[in-house]
Amino acid sequence: MTFRIAEVIVDVAAYPVDRPFDYLVPEQMQSLIECGSRVKVPFGPRNVLGFVVGLKEDTDVPIDKIKEVTKLIDIEPVLTTEMLQLAKWLKNKTICFEIDALQVMLPSALRAKYEKMVTLQTDIENLPIDLQEHFKKSGRVNYKVFEKLHLLQTLKMAISHKLLAVEYVVKQQGNVKEIRKVKIADDANQLNEISAQISNRAKKQKLLVEWLIQHVGKVMDPETILTETNSSMAVLQAVIDLGAAKFVHQEVYRDPFTKEVKKTTSLHLTDEQTVALEKITSSMENKQPETFLLHGVTGSGKTEVYLQAIQQCLNDDKEAIVLVPEISLTPQMTERFRSRFGELVAVMHSGLSVGEKYDEWRKVHEGKVKVVVGARSAIFAPFDNVGLIILDEEHESTYKQEDSPRYHARDVAIWRSEYHNCPVLLGSATPSLESYARAQKNVYTLLTLKQRALKQSLPTVEIVDMREELKSGNRSMFSEKLVESIRIRLDKKEQIVLFLNRRGYSSFVLCRDCGTVVQCENCDISLTYHRSNEKLKCHYCGYEQHVPRECPQCQSDHIRFFGTGTQKVEEEILKLFPEARVLRMDVDTTRQKGAHEKLLESFGEGHADILLGTQMIAKGLDFPNITLVGVLSADTSLHLPDYRAAEKTFQLLTQVGGRAGRSALPGEVVIQSYTPEHYAIELSKEQHYEPFYQLEMTMRHQAGYPPYYYLALIQVSHEDLMMAAEYAQKSVDYLRSNLSFNVSIIGPTVAGISRLQNRYRYQCLIKYKIEPKLIPTLMQLIKLYRSDWIKKGIILTIDLDPSTI
Ligand code: ADP
Ligand code: ZN
Ligand code: ZN
Repeated sequence: MTFRIAEVIVDVAAYPVDRPFDYLVPEQMQSLIECGSRVKVPFGPRNVLGFVVGLKEDTDVPIDKIKEVTKLIDIEPVLTTEMLQLAKWLKNKTICFEIDALQVMLPSALRAKYEKMVTLQTDIENLPIDLQEHFKKSGRVNYKVFEKLHLLQTLKMAISHKLLAVEYVVKQQGNVKEIRKVKIADDANQLNEISAQISNRAKKQKLLVEWLIQHVGKVMDPETILTETNSSMAVLQAVIDLGAAKFVHQEVYRDPFTKEVKKTTSLHLTDEQTVALEKITSSMENKQPETFLLHGVTGSGKTEVYLQAIQQCLNDDKEAIVLVPEISLTPQMTERFRSRFGELVAVMHSGLSVGEKYDEWRKVHEGKVKVVVGARSAIFAPFDNVGLIILDEEHESTYKQEDSPRYHARDVAIWRSEYHNCPVLLGSATPSLESYARAQKNVYTLLTLKQRALKQSLPTVEIVDMREELKSGNRSMFSEKLVESIRIRLDKKEQIVLFLNRRGYSSFVLCRDCGTVVQCENCDISLTYHRSNEKLKCHYCGYEQHVPRECPQCQSDHIRFFGTGTQKVEEEILKLFPEARVLRMDVDTTRQKGAHEKLLESFGEGHADILLGTQMIAKGLDFPNITLVGVLSADTSLHLPDYRAAEKTFQLLTQVGGRAGRSALPGEVVIQSYTPEHYAIELSKEQHYEPFYQLEMTMRHQAGYPPYYYLALIQVSHEDLMMAAEYAQKSVDYLRSNLSFNVSIIGPTVAGISRLQNRYRYQCLIKYKIEPKLIPTLMQLIKLYRSDWIKKGIILTIDLDPSTI
């Protein structure tokens, strides 16, 4: 079928109207264009990028007004029908531009500068005649060649038959890797003839050809052939000259995996694991879009349940998506998937280069892999037969995207599960309150693992009151209890993890005389001290300056660094235990690619006694020899201006504690705190989620926060303070006059960070239970903003279900 009219979503964010525009498809493009392809179209004075979201026969646009598609970028669509539908849903769900939703689904390589290349996937002879000559010199030919010669029609056909493939080569990325292989002739008779031709004196050649006859048609490494047959390159070249084989160039994916992994097989499940797995697989068999919450204590073997559920999914010839928070920080986790499913796994995370990310995406797009393990955006993996979606550590805030589209991966997962009729599996030792509440109401199905997989007991937890330490004259950051415990482990040659809670804690420079804290020039936020280069840095806008010699306010020279960094802790440890081998893991020691893996590997191999780190060591560590976990400062995250502060603190302490005593050796946890009576800290002692959940729910109920209420956050910013305040007030007025009276609208108030990148910020918080008018009202507000306010320099953002407020 061919269509004359394409509906196109154009890449012009900030245009007041967010809808598709109709364009005429030029005749020669009509049989090539498809939904999900990108195009170039005229829009106003410019040519812009757009996505084809619909094709049709007719349009209401008068024929003299309608413009033509100028260029078709993809002859194979980059987005599936599912993705186009998902984008529409995201647009309403998160109130974003549809173009933002479309763009977020594609790897950044497709947004960068790239060269399109067509690569040969078969023998030249199989290609349509018109195309053959172009591939004689090389298996990769620039797409432009075919465009110029008007061969796109034939090209498209060859691509749909998988004879050729289009590939986007990111320019700064350099060349795609290629390796040379040997393709043995397909025809055994031909090889026999060649063998007959070879004179008996050329014994080696004859032997080689005899061997090749045994491997007719195969593609092999030249090295393999040479070693197997004990011949030299010269001999191989000679038989290749006779036509017994030929050299071919095969493109290799840039493999982001740094090392080989050992293959593992399914473990014999515990009773609890068996029950959980059966429920999940039966839901898979019944093709139900059911959401499970797998609540299992640390070390209970959730991952093994994931692995076996995925195995089931693969047996059914379906695909699986596994999301993990900040995957680059959890190499051990990725390794477990690779070691079970090998080449069938693609990995997607922010630590990969643009080209590597693209390679992984393409493996998925072309159906070369069946399992994707990745961070948040991997939820858009372009599989077309999804059988299972897993979110590990479902409570993590990294699953929520902070920029437009402000989506939560959990919501997208549930949407896709409904599309594919497959289950979603949320796993955590400390579920988010929202998810656990849904499980209580049977919206999600609760699966529980109460025991550790090897029946190890949970570690014993001791909470040390640091105020008492101070009273008894201990001014160091280590309590007596922790020092003693560390000493015992060092003597026994067991391993120790020391955790410095840096969330909500900053290392700033303070004047001891007047109390001035050095702040960023563009943002109302204190600059963070970086010891490695003696600089102060703004973590929001990147502004940098040297540490001042004297106070900018009172010129005192008593201005210095304040706060505890990992380097300082390391120095203290070495003073106390000069013999200890310490590995420090923080932003400074892990900046280089692969540094995480290396540090962890080295710790796993026993090259250090103490692993010292920040948030990045809280998750996923599974080393049998760790028997002590020390938390240096439990409460720094308690005092954040965030209604989730207690929840986050409890989660963190439980996670960190879970690193100890995971195998035969019993574990101990020492938590140091200045507010040990706080329930989030007190309850982490038992590592029991349920009592914490009950208490925290009561608090949320009293304060009117989720999960009892939903939240929406509106932020308004402008370079001028008065403008920001005025338009924030306008927004609030608009909301008040359009929303139901039982919705509470709080604000406008100054935002938590009152100035960011030179813009003043105001906000308003909406709390609601059921409000059908919310989305339409917010849509109207956005329209108002896009058609008028934006010209005045206002930036307005809407975040439904914000992760911080
Ligand atoms: P979680 O993800 O719940 O923290 P893991 O999946 O990491 O737990 O399991 C903890 C440890 O127990 C791992 O070393 C894992 O290999 C082991 N394990 C899990 N399930 C089993 C089982 N059924 N039999 C034996 N060992 C298991
Ligand atoms: Zn001062
Ligand atoms: Zn700044």
